[in-house]
Amino acid sequence: MTQANPQLRRTKIVATLGPATDDPATLEKLLLAGVNVVRINFSHGDPDEHRRRVEMVREISIRHRLFVAVLGDLQGPKIRIARFADKKIFLKDGDKFTLDAGMDKLAGHQTAIGLDYEDLPRDCHPGDILMLDDGRVQMRVDSIEGEKVHTIVTVGGDLSNNKGINLQGGGLSAPALTKKDLRDIKTAAALDVEYLAVSFPRSGADIERARELMLEAGGNAGIVAKIERAETVASEEALDDMIAASDAVMVARGDLGVEIGDASLVGVQKRIIKRARQMNKVVITATQMMESMINSQLPTRAEVFDVANAVLDGTDAVMLSGETAAGNYPVQTVQAMVRVILGAEVQREIQRSRHRMDQEYEHIDETIALAVMYSANHLKGVKAIIALTESGQTPRVMSRISSGLPIFALSPSVKAQRKMMLYRGVQSVPFDPKGMDIEEMTHNSIQALKEAGHVAIGDVVILSRGNEIGLLGGTDTMQIVRVTD
Ligand code: PGA
Ligand code: MN
Repeated sequence: MTQANPQLRRTKIVATLGPATDDPATLEKLLLAGVNVVRINFSHGDPDEHRRRVEMVREISIRHRLFVAVLGDLQGPKIRIARFADKKIFLKDGDKFTLDAGMDKLAGHQTAIGLDYEDLPRDCHPGDILMLDDGRVQMRVDSIEGEKVHTIVTVGGDLSNNKGINLQGGGLSAPALTKKDLRDIKTAAALDVEYLAVSFPRSGADIERARELMLEAGGNAGIVAKIERAETVASEEALDDMIAASDAVMVARGDLGVEIGDASLVGVQKRIIKRARQMNKVVITATQMMESMINSQLPTRAEVFDVANAVLDGTDAVMLSGETAAGNYPVQTVQAMVRVILGAEVQREIQRSRHRMDQEYEHIDETIALAVMYSANHLKGVKAIIALTESGQTPRVMSRISSGLPIFALSPSVKAQRKMMLYRGVQSVPFDPKGMDIEEMTHNSIQALKEAGHVAIGDVVILSRGNEIGLLGGTDTMQIVRVTD
């Protein structure tokens, strides 16, 4: 087994930015430690803050020749309680407590609180279990009276301002895109983000709508569906509908776990990852991956296993939330994640895949991408895959197939170079084939990788390209080449 090269780590890291990464020196260390995608969380902060963060990321990454994608994450219709007059209360098991959509939003007290989501009294029924603060506090609906939802506390604890509410089993009807989301999509488009994540989408239609709004606002971000409602994993059709509509999906384990129960999460994570890859889509595994590192310099053994298992499941990326946005050790957390990923990748069974083997393909570029990967995995001595690409589409399809070989994606487009950083096993290399004939293109691209130390004389590489330079989706050629001087 060869030693993994840290530069060629396959599984990508998404890190959420926040107050803990605002110091430029910290952000620089964070990116240099191996962050591939930064998440801008629209649930917190204002547009100016987001703009400053994105500018800083772009400045640092250009200076260090790093490729870093920006993911704008919409708040979505997070259903929340309003505020307490005295900030927080403590509820005991068996207490009576009322959620009241008609109440003053600042006047919560020991027995009642207002609601940021006014449809709650219409969305729940006696007997339903409401999960507050990610399930730390739970209550059973006793009765509904106009705007008031009367409940009995079943799991007591501290309850403070603006905590989220989930309905066990799902079914809250709030539309996915709020007025705030519509504004934030414009901000995201103006920031030219590479990805836009939609929170609490109900179906593929919500994703289509976000994509339209993004295009209208002048952006072209890839759309990420956060899988976090119970109904979206309740059937194969519902999950497929969501995956088909998006460019990438996120296993949003925080909210999803509250709705479907933590015990179901493990199986669902594996199912989502597998299905996304089968459908040629990208997948991010998120939430509490290294949660204890908010306050600790080392992850727990359980967190080490969690990150490693997501890698073995085949995720494209693992995500950090509070660990980097608000933690005490953001840089150490990324370093620990890199270490654990590399350890897991050495273990991965490679060079075996049955990806889409039994299917008919519709597109020439996809066919070439799969032919390249199967050849690379089966021909002895292949050291690398080189994909000359415009948009990154061919490398994305290639990276759906398990392989231990690096996929070097050569593109002239800065946008594509950044976007591809989310794809497992793909490394971006800037390369502009303008003015080159086919022979020069092949020769120069291999030279570029030789100079970067990725391939050496005598190595076999497999290259894919289009016969017509610069044509989108035009990949139609595969070439097996021995590196010469
Ligand atoms: P959030 O989404 O961090 O925006 O809530 C991820 C999740 O729910 O796991
Ligand atoms: Mn969530």
